[in-house]
Amino acid sequence: MTQPIQIGTAAQPQRGIALFGMHRERLGEILLGFTLTSYRIQQLWQALYQQRVTEIDEIAPFPVQLRSQITEAGYCVGLPEIAQVFTSVDGTERYLIACADGATVETVWMPEGDGGEQGDGSDDTAGAAGESSAEAARYLRATICVSSQVGCAVNCQFCLTAKLGVQRNLTAGEIAGQVVAVLNRHKVRVGRDRINLVFMGMGEPFLNYDAFMDAVRLLVAGVGIPESRMTVSTSGILPGIERFASETVRPKLALSLNAPNDTIRAEIMPITRKWNIAALLDGLRAIPLRARERLTLEYVLLGDVNDRLQDARELVQQVRRSGLPLKVNLIVWNPGPGVAYQMPQPDTVAAFQQHLMASGVPAYIRRPRGRDIYAACGQLKRTTEAGE
Ligand code: SAH
Ligand code: SF4
Repeated sequence: MTQPIQIGTAAQPQRGIALFGMHRERLGEILLGFTLTSYRIQQLWQALYQQRVTEIDEIAPFPVQLRSQITEAGYCVGLPEIAQVFTSVDGTERYLIACADGATVETVWMPEGDGGEQGDGSDDTAGAAGESSAEAARYLRATICVSSQVGCAVNCQFCLTAKLGVQRNLTAGEIAGQVVAVLNRHKVRVGRDRINLVFMGMGEPFLNYDAFMDAVRLLVAGVGIPESRMTVSTSGILPGIERFASETVRPKLALSLNAPNDTIRAEIMPITRKWNIAALLDGLRAIPLRARERLTLEYVLLGDVNDRLQDARELVQQVRRSGLPLKVNLIVWNPGPGVAYQMPQPDTVAAFQQHLMASGVPAYIRRPRGRDIYAACGQLKRTTEAGE
């Protein structure tokens, strides 16, 4: 493993009451203190989420006096800031993003995705409608991996983030703000460039449900990223899955199954004792799917724990019994300090995938991205904080 390349450190996060993260109604209430013209609300909304300004002074349609009144009243844009950047040889960038209170989370930019988006109904168009492949090549395509909490309370035995415990929930502005900070860094033109979001960074999104869904609504209605290009991954918080099933605007869903039966799953994911596999798969049934949409089962392959052929057979049984339109994303476990598992052998990974495919279960291998810059989720924060 090569050393991470640090190519930047950012300024201190802004102080004040963050406007970024607020919906129109709240922005309207605030503006009412300064101006009675209601079109200013739309201008502020567009400045925050479409122009993606980082300073109140950049809100071009606002008269200078209005901008200084807002600033003097203690407001700021309040986007989280990219504090550190680690660039991989494969183009992946990992960021430590700092919130106003100094808490940091990890966010990742993967220029070509990681294969996780295959076969779930989001990869069936080339980009903008009707474009040739030559035209498509002129556009950026990338996947951003977003955190939902500082640390995580779920305690999966193979996960680095679990070692941090949960420090706090992120707010909607901090979740959507990670995306906007990264979009700004890469000068992404939303609507032309093709951006996928995966809520698969640090934390369990369904244990921070309201803020997570609020962030989704800001990203859809404000920033303009369609929810069909977003995937949220849960370790299996059944009440969250049930709420999610009734949302009108919702990303696609991935369930981190990681084992073919409750015995192995309880060993590596103790939360299984609360909600077992049967209950979780049953919970998925209530989700109304879009055309061509599949639900994803994520499966982290741990050497000699869940990667045997008999595990693949049992997994096929689970998928068949469920009757759900599922695909499986196989993830090669990323090792990290203090976690005593083994990586699976490459031929075991291939055999596992082949068995699933031969049994009619779509299975994809998520490519390990940025392994040289501490790819395992939670690893960057841990190694940076520990000064290793
Ligand atoms: N908390 C959510 C989302 C974040 S974890 C969840 O667990 O689903 C995102 C994915 O990374 C999960 O599927 C998880 O099983 C996987 N993961 C965690 N630690 C990993 C590691 N060290 N190597 C590979 N995958 C890992
Ligand atoms: Fe939390 Fe997901 Fe890691 Fe489990 S795998 S500890 S739920 S971040």
